[in-house]
Amino acid sequence: MDLGIKGRRAIVCASSKGLGRACAIALANEGVHVTITARGAEALAKTAAEIRAANPGITVTEVAGDITTPEGRAAVLAACPDPDILINNAGGPPPGDFRNWTRDDWIKALDANMLTPIELIKATVDGMMARKFGRIVNITSAAVKAPIDILGLSNGARAGLTGFVAGLSRKTVINNVTINALLPGPFETDRLRSTAKGEAEKRGVTPEQILADRAKLNPAGRFGDPEEFGLACAFLCAAKAGYITGQNILLDGGAFPGTL
Ligand code: NAP
Repeated sequence: MDLGIKGRRAIVCASSKGLGRACAIALANEGVHVTITARGAEALAKTAAEIRAANPGITVTEVAGDITTPEGRAAVLAACPDPDILINNAGGPPPGDFRNWTRDDWIKALDANMLTPIELIKATVDGMMARKFGRIVNITSAAVKAPIDILGLSNGARAGLTGFVAGLSRKTVINNVTINALLPGPFETDRLRSTAKGEAEKRGVTPEQILADRAKLNPAGRFGDPEEFGLACAFLCAAKAGYITGQNILLDGGAFPGTL
């Protein structure tokens, strides 16, 4: 299926690895020029080179920096001031017990997973509306729908973003600018593998054992493949996806047990 977005420009935040990288690849495969970001320049350059090699006809711009800082966001916006597509993403906050979290811990989580996407939307949405095309996808978490107790910082910050977007996305769609969220369940990325490492040490088993046990618990019997996530993201950015806005779409292999 041709998604009708060839030649569009996208900012894909936090995209040297994992889900962000998969979104950048899927968009590039549709002929979208991508500006990709991450803090680590080496992995970012490697991903950029891979995308370029697979899609010689598009421009791939790398911006190394921390997207949760004003400087990081300014650098990305300088490289791509008028994006047609914005994929918001950043690392997730650490797990823990809320009794141990300080105000600073909360501010960091809010900065990364609520205020950074809102700042980037603020910087780009009016231009998209004026040009009558825009697709914004926020990568949040299945925890928005089914909170995970030890991920309270993530539950709180992402719920804040979701509430904000619920209002705005009904105002932008009149100008063909949609804002949706993709809610990942367990996808096989570095983040998933690193959480298994910690749990394995605690339980005295191998990380592979932890991952195999966790995969079995999912109704699909496996973790999600980042490529599946990237393709769903590209679909939400399609020219003909202009009637989907304000939605929070779970990609979790059926793990959420509710009817709706
Ligand atoms: P990942 O494999 O660890 O990849 C994270 C990517 O984001 C890397 O490219 C990383 O590069 C970049 N990044 C992280 N913090 C950044 C920052 N402050 N500024 C710029 N780039 C940054 O993680 P993932 O699994 O793809 O997860 C992506 C998001 O989905 C996270 O918020 C995570 O909490 C959420 N999520 C993931 C899952 C899952 O199963 N994978 C499930 C639910 C929610 P650098 O480190 O070099 O910056």
